[in-house]
Amino acid sequence: MVWFSLMYTLFERGNREMNNDYSVYSGLKELNPSETGKRAAIYCRLSKDDDEREGESASIQNQKALLEDYCSNQGWEVTAVYIDDGYTGLNMNRPDLMRMLKAVERRQIDIVLTKDLSRLSRNYVEFGQLTEQFFPKNGIRYIAVNDSVDTAVDGALDMTPFRAVVNQMYSADTSKKVHSSYLTKARNGQFTGCLAPFGYKKSEECKNKLEPDDDTAPIVKLIYDLAKDGRGPNHIRRRLEDLRIPCPAWWNRQKGLRDKTTKFERENPETGRFIWDFTTIKEILENPVYIGSIASQKQVYKFKAGWIRDKKPHEWLVVDNMHEPIVSQEVFELVQEKVKTRKRPDAWGNYSIFAGLLKCGQCGSSMNVRRANQKGKDRIYTCSKYNKFGVAHCSQHRMKYDVLYNLVLEQIRSYAKKALENETDIAGQLMRDTRQDDHNERALVEKAIAEDSSRLATIDKIIGKLYEDMIAERISAENFNALLEKTQSEQGALKNRLEHNKARIADREQERQDTSRWIKLIREYADIQELDAATLNQLIKKILIHEDMDGSIIRQTVEIHFNFKTQADKYKLIRE
Ligand SMILES: [Zn+2]
Repeated sequence: MVWFSLMYTLFERGNREMNNDYSVYSGLKELNPSETGKRAAIYCRLSKDDDEREGESASIQNQKALLEDYCSNQGWEVTAVYIDDGYTGLNMNRPDLMRMLKAVERRQIDIVLTKDLSRLSRNYVEFGQLTEQFFPKNGIRYIAVNDSVDTAVDGALDMTPFRAVVNQMYSADTSKKVHSSYLTKARNGQFTGCLAPFGYKKSEECKNKLEPDDDTAPIVKLIYDLAKDGRGPNHIRRRLEDLRIPCPAWWNRQKGLRDKTTKFERENPETGRFIWDFTTIKEILENPVYIGSIASQKQVYKFKAGWIRDKKPHEWLVVDNMHEPIVSQEVFELVQEKVKTRKRPDAWGNYSIFAGLLKCGQCGSSMNVRRANQKGKDRIYTCSKYNKFGVAHCSQHRMKYDVLYNLVLEQIRSYAKKALENETDIAGQLMRDTRQDDHNERALVEKAIAEDSSRLATIDKIIGKLYEDMIAERISAENFNALLEKTQSEQGALKNRLEHNKARIADREQERQDTSRWIKLIREYADIQELDAATLNQLIKKILIHEDMDGSIIRQTVEIHFNFKTQADKYKLIRE
């Protein structure tokens, strides 16, 4: 058989050291007439793409136990156990499968048992070659216990190719998702990495659970505190070096977790350990693990399209409240905003309080601060693109520091007062435009969700019924495939819509929560006397400066986007 010799060539090397392995199993050498027909071989296989719904029952131990039980009930001797752990059923590149097939060819086995058909193969063509040609030719009786397939029973195999087709479709569909027990763990929010994130350690009772590490958690807290005040990763790494705080690699060696040194440590064994990697700090600042969540599923499989792409952080599968947080939700969210817009010291090397927040409304570039003239003390912000490339690319967008400062301060005070005086009122104001629409829209979306969910349940039943019809031969394999394809495509479209609608409801809910959070936050600032970078970064997402030339008059709009507040505030000014 050509296909089979090919496989042998493929595995020649792998099999060389296995040639004598058969001696470890009893009954493989001579044909004893009384035992003929009862020498059973068990084949177990497990890989990441196997059905996660099977959960623990799919484990190798469970497969083996089930099959050994079955053999002992039948009074058969298990003469060999073959195990391919971590091998996909989509192809035959499996060392123990090849060993078993060799034993079959040598007539050392009479019965091959697997838990179900997909353990043997998920590939239709290869499955057919095994069960319809190779096994019969070598006198093998094949049994898939859970699928009630036994080739000794007449006609049993007639339907197996169809199931194999289903297996293959299923495999093609699911193998691309990160599946199996890994996904189950991820959904349960269990930590699956080999090294706990910096600041945490694996719990001694349960290695899938994290707990703060007393030595390193305070360092994470410090990093977040600096970031919260608008400090970027470069500033933070300088501060850590000043404070002589060793980097994560050093801590890992200290704790005997990993024996790695950084390039800084290799360059300078004395002080290298105090130099932190920029990326390390950035990753710490973006990891929701520090608010008690476990994030996984960082890639996505698109139904029908079948391709994988990297997910953006907000699309990760995040399970909250899995362990003790190191930073608060508020601080984390503020930092996420800051991470997006890194700050630089101003022209004097000072830290400008609006740095990173102020943007040109026309081109989106940051605004640079400078002195109005040589001896003047006035600070002035201008569009950095205009500064660099001139009037062909943007206009000046000149904004006096003092004007902006007073406007923002006044606005914060006035909101804070309102929030203190009447919380309900201000909440109503903030959401006033959307309230009624919101209510109507929500009702519609909820109705759609209910309808789609019910249709999906029906489709599940239809697929089950189709499958039964196919097995009972009430419909042909061709029709089955066509109908399955059609039904699955409807299912996919419905699932997409359902997800989309659920996300819409969640967004609205988020908006409501943000509003009440914003009110709580702003109330603290009723008596504010002066602004600093920390306050601004806490309250404000960004400030845009727009301008409009009207002859010699320049009209400007200052657009303030507060954190957690849906609508921006706009203030019109005329620049002299
Ligand atoms: Zn500009």
